[in-house]
Amino acid sequence: MTDKKNLRTPIVCVMGHVDHGKTTLLDKIRGTAIVSGEAGAITQHIGATEVPIDVIIDKLGDPRLRDRFMVPGLLFIDTPGHHAFTTLRSRGGALADLAIVVVDINEGFKPQTYESLQILKRFKTPFVVVANKIDRIGGWVSQKDMPFAATFKKQSSDVQARLETKLYEVIGELYNQGFAAERYDRVTNFQKTLGVVPVSAFTGEGIPDVLMVLLGLAQKFLEANLQYSAKGPGVGTVLEVKEEKGLGATLDIILYDGTLKKGDTVVIGSLGEPIRTKVRALLKPRELSEIRYESKFQQVSKVTAAAGVKISAPGLEGALAGSPIRVATEDNLEEIASQVKSEIDEVRIDTGSVGIMIKADTLGSLEALVHEFQKDEVPIRKAEVGDISHRDAVEASTVEDPLYSVIIGFNVKVHPDARDFLQESSVKVFASDVIYRLVEDYQKYVKEQQE
Ligand code: GDP
Ligand code: MG
Repeated sequence: MTDKKNLRTPIVCVMGHVDHGKTTLLDKIRGTAIVSGEAGAITQHIGATEVPIDVIIDKLGDPRLRDRFMVPGLLFIDTPGHHAFTTLRSRGGALADLAIVVVDINEGFKPQTYESLQILKRFKTPFVVVANKIDRIGGWVSQKDMPFAATFKKQSSDVQARLETKLYEVIGELYNQGFAAERYDRVTNFQKTLGVVPVSAFTGEGIPDVLMVLLGLAQKFLEANLQYSAKGPGVGTVLEVKEEKGLGATLDIILYDGTLKKGDTVVIGSLGEPIRTKVRALLKPRELSEIRYESKFQQVSKVTAAAGVKISAPGLEGALAGSPIRVATEDNLEEIASQVKSEIDEVRIDTGSVGIMIKADTLGSLEALVHEFQKDEVPIRKAEVGDISHRDAVEASTVEDPLYSVIIGFNVKVHPDARDFLQESSVKVFASDVIYRLVEDYQKYVKEQQE
């Protein structure tokens, strides 16, 4: 029997193409949670929002469901932008336990939809597809915050047919991507078939259904993975390195295991030796009601997984987004430091031999790119986090084979001196913020060179 008290909150990441409604969906989930529960029922984290199980059950309207679900709630990652998921790596996998892929039912699949699906497939992360913006279907009559079945029943048969047609286009696309999918209420086995929930993030229609499917997935797939000891040392992933007024460089992290306390010694991955430092302050967003305070943050003495928190500590400047952060003791500090270093070295490549160069914005996106190019058996000379520097440009220009005198840049800048150098050189630079674009563009280039 699983002990309820030891299940941590599953971490849920929202993915999908820009403008398909990720932010609106999260706002809606947050909004309904605030409305249905009393103040303080949901907890605002740094980079995340926690919706407790009671609020979700309340929303679903059937108290008997309470005993069916063991998880204490859901922690939704708020990181803006599409790349949250690739940044959110953990050792050997994805940090998010569950995901939502949002697709605009009227627009269909777009580059970042495909990319989201590829990443989820690679990490074997359970997810639900949200077919969003059903209120834009011609003739749709909105029923605010209603479950899908109830609002669907109220639509005319023409409108119902239009929705089904569009929905099965989405399901067909999923099939082409190697996923068996169905409208979620027609799925009998979620282990075999992906559920698609028609939703309007705008009107709230279908939102209860999304929460229901997520809880079901958490229950079926995750129980074993969500066991943790609140007493264990904290382990997390760096979301972002951020300058804050009066604090200097801070880290926004997601803690996915154990406890992190003020004063703890922590080890954090960086480009060179791992950073060893002491936590000066743990910061949470301040409640909106507490406007009399100058700072938008409030201090806490400890946090327990899963949680999002900002860390203030000396020496955080060189920390790497996507890298691990781990609590250490005096006794195991060097051991933990060498584990953190080897985790980063596993992703980084520096062979000095012939091959392409890859530069990426975070450890997670670098890992994903290296994986994709290695799958295609493309030799890699160097792969590291960071902008494209003059040194990188010079190094790439020393490679004679045009197939490998190449720099792949994912979400990174080109330094001005590197740009000048590259313009004069024969180095080929590919830059994009879609992983599979970079892979495809490079493949195309190789074909052209070989003709
Ligand atoms: P994101 O880029 O994926 O985070 O997308 P946003 O949440 O910012 O939404 C992009 C635009 O689509 C905004 O103008 C939203 O108001 C709108 N939008 C999002 N969801 C819906 C929906 O369900 N119905 C309608 N009509 N508009 C929506
Ligand atoms: Mg957004």
